[in-house]
Amino acid sequence: MNYRELGNTGLMVSEIGLGCEGFAEDGCRGAKLLLDEAQRQGINYFDLYTSNPQVRSAVGEALRGRRDRFIIQSHVCSVWKDGQYKRSRNIDEVKAGMEEMLRLLRTDYIDVGMIHYVDSMKDWQEIAQGPVLAYAKELKEQGVIRHIGLSSHNPEVALAAVKSGSIEVLMFSVNPCYDLQPASEDVEELWAEKNYESHLVNMDPERQELYETCQRQGVGVTVMKAFGGGDLLDEKMSPAGKALTAVQCLHYALTRPAVATVLAGAHSVEQLRESLAYETASEEERDYAPAFASFPNISWEGHCMYCSHCAPCPKRIDVASVTKFLNLARAQKEVPETVREHYEVLEHHAGECIRCGACETRCPFKVPIMENMARAAEMFRK
Ligand code: SF4
Ligand code: SF4
Repeated sequence: MNYRELGNTGLMVSEIGLGCEGFAEDGCRGAKLLLDEAQRQGINYFDLYTSNPQVRSAVGEALRGRRDRFIIQSHVCSVWKDGQYKRSRNIDEVKAGMEEMLRLLRTDYIDVGMIHYVDSMKDWQEIAQGPVLAYAKELKEQGVIRHIGLSSHNPEVALAAVKSGSIEVLMFSVNPCYDLQPASEDVEELWAEKNYESHLVNMDPERQELYETCQRQGVGVTVMKAFGGGDLLDEKMSPAGKALTAVQCLHYALTRPAVATVLAGAHSVEQLRESLAYETASEEERDYAPAFASFPNISWEGHCMYCSHCAPCPKRIDVASVTKFLNLARAQKEVPETVREHYEVLEHHAGECIRCGACETRCPFKVPIMENMARAAEMFRK
């Protein structure tokens, strides 16, 4: 298992994480089965958005004697009311939900406390100016939650939260189809058929800005909906018109800037193993570029997807990484110090490019790589 830094939290998290969908399976026996498998395979990060007390109890039971083996991302504002899940901003309900969660999980701390499901700007503003964020900060001061996070499907809201400096972790929906769509307060819009009827070109600039801002500010991204709820794996269901493999979807999400872990949704141990296959997959199996290039209605032209399909470079330049750092720096007045440091530790730099053009013949997305290398060499003076 590979581990990655979760932004600036100091936590090292497994790049394959676990979603909580399967915990409720088989009378909640799924919680123990999935956490056992996760521990065997080196998964140390899981999400728990559900407020169902039976599921939380089962997770608490399954964690008995091994709480410290897992980094838990659980949600503030996801509460159980009148026998069902409710997203709440009522501070009394939120506090009661948090206290119950700690009791049922048999723990006195949560590693990442996610402010749950914030998809509208109005909601974010009320959270930021009201008692919910103040409560999250209070919990952090008390050590009850170690880091404050926020979950969202809307890049506009997520960007505002990241820029506010109040959150350290962002749980965000990342997949190649969502990435084409502009911000919306309604998550259903991201999958609406009408939004895929015309020819779509390139990633939505606000989403690109979101990932890059997270990377620059050290906000770690944990990914939900990497498979589009399973639809991207099915040719008939996928809005892209062709199916991707689970490994390709995982690789796409894991190659976005700032992404630390993908929370693989799994209803069974077998499904979890399908995601774990990523760890032993070959470069060819991970490569999503040929599949993207064959999507009938979508093109990514001139825009680097960080797919590394252009390798190998005779000067051993890691074109995808150089381009990522170039993109992180180019919207800024000055090159951010952290970006410069990361660039400098690359083994080979853009200044070594001999303009042979081999990479451009291999890039499926017609990225002007030689021009990018020249700009990076100029910007980083290396
Ligand atoms: S330059 Fe092209 S081939 Fe290389 S990483 Fe970017 S998109 Fe992929
Ligand atoms: S053009 Fe530059 S970056 Fe591309 S393969 Fe040749 S040397 Fe490497």
